[in-house]
Amino acid sequence: MTKAELVRESRPPLDWKYAPSRESTDIVTVDQRYGLFIDGEFRRPISKKYFTTINPATEEPLAEVAEAGEKDVDRAVKAARSAYEDSWGAMPGKERAKYLFRVARMVQERARELAVLETMDGGKPIKESRDVDLPLVAAHFFYYAGWADKLEYAFPGLDPQPLGVAGQVIPWNFPLMMLAWKVAPALATGNTVVLKPAETTPLSALIFASLADEAGLPPGVFNVVTGAGATGSNLVNHPDVDKVAFTGSTAVGKLIRNSLAGTNKKVTLELGGKAAHVIFDDAPMDQAIEGVVNGIFFNQGHVCCAGSRLFVQESIHDKFVEKLKRRLSTLRVGDPLDKNTDVGAINSAEQLARITELVEVGRVEGAEIFQPDCVLPRNGFWFRPTLFTGVSQSHRIAQEEIFGPVLSIMSFRTPDEAIEKANNTPYGLSAGVWTSKGSRILWMADRLQAGVVWANTYNKFDPASPFGGFKESGFGREGGRHGLLAYLKGIA
Ligand code: NAD
Repeated sequence: MTKAELVRESRPPLDWKYAPSRESTDIVTVDQRYGLFIDGEFRRPISKKYFTTINPATEEPLAEVAEAGEKDVDRAVKAARSAYEDSWGAMPGKERAKYLFRVARMVQERARELAVLETMDGGKPIKESRDVDLPLVAAHFFYYAGWADKLEYAFPGLDPQPLGVAGQVIPWNFPLMMLAWKVAPALATGNTVVLKPAETTPLSALIFASLADEAGLPPGVFNVVTGAGATGSNLVNHPDVDKVAFTGSTAVGKLIRNSLAGTNKKVTLELGGKAAHVIFDDAPMDQAIEGVVNGIFFNQGHVCCAGSRLFVQESIHDKFVEKLKRRLSTLRVGDPLDKNTDVGAINSAEQLARITELVEVGRVEGAEIFQPDCVLPRNGFWFRPTLFTGVSQSHRIAQEEIFGPVLSIMSFRTPDEAIEKANNTPYGLSAGVWTSKGSRILWMADRLQAGVVWANTYNKFDPASPFGGFKESGFGREGGRHGLLAYLKGIA
């Protein structure tokens, strides 16, 4: 034995245990208590009520947040109306653009802080809030800032005019991104805004409010009323709101549509989904596996356009499922602040209960479950990445939106059958197709009833590309030139 070999032999074996790489939370300052952001200031709620927002990965409280009552909402709408009439509505587009560009740059400057905050309040992996959410938030503000002085070119001869006050209600899965999708086009077109973030993720909207204030946005142009469903209902039903933009569940979307029928309010609804992800036998299999994983486990499956129904061509079904199971076992589930985490915390105890219930229904209905053997943290809300095989079209797990990391797998033989099965859903938000034939992609895209069809990729977003649903996934488009339409008078 050589000397080097002897030294190596005498060393204890290397310990290759996993070493987490945790993002620091020092960069974020969370106040103990937040008021409502109205007319450029944080104000105590007239309701005198507060609720606690927690970190879903630890169940530790983060802050107390005001619960806006009817009078608070009224105050916010009045502030938005005054700002619309006194400054913002008549301001030339090129001036509005300056504010929006400044907001976009400040979001970029504070991106790390905002990403950490988003992960703390919502439970999503830091690598997603850092690499997906925040860049897209800034991109949306840049993109719509660019439109603010070009509305006449976007709609030539149509004299585009703002609507007035927009009441906007958003969900908890992409809190800042949903804010950007709504606020950027509304402000770019000259409307003022009252925004209601979701009750489990109010913090990033409140910090954004102070950022907008620092950017010099005139008081009342952007207001935040925090609270739960009752606050949202007070906002959308307020008589002085001209435009309602809602993103959330189909059930609440229906309630809102009913309550607004017969009013003059302009409405857009971005609702739930149960997307079909279709894999043909000529698809590059390893890439398709990555696409499927991204499609359903991105953001714990808390994604309206999640590819939650997988259709695999029968000839490759077994091999594909076997590889997919192996890939699932490599996903790292746990601390969302760890930069290596793939699947973070479920957003709330309520959402965890809903996922658990539907997964149990899947078992009882006879589908076969697979979950990798991963260790889950003791505190917080967690659910293992899950897939079901042997699913039939009538199973509830093939029909209902689970909004969690749960994939239902089915098979098909021909393209016609794939279309028939993919469209067998009340929803129509998104779909994905994997094949190496360009002509087949176009054939499928023509027939899939979905607002977005991704080809050989999944969950790709761009501010220039419109996004929205068919059927019970809602109506109206956000993003792109189309996204301006929802906020302009007299243009269909
Ligand atoms: P939700 O409908 O329960 O709540 C969404 C928002 O509406 C929250 O802010 C909530 O407080 C508020 N709200 C609740 N009841 C209300 C009422 N009666 N009137 C007015 N506002 C009310 O949905 P959620 O659980 O927060 O979000 C998940 C849902 O959102 C899923 O169905 C998902 O598919 C959908 N979503 C859709 C899109 C899209 O672009 N289509 C994007 C993200 C999420």
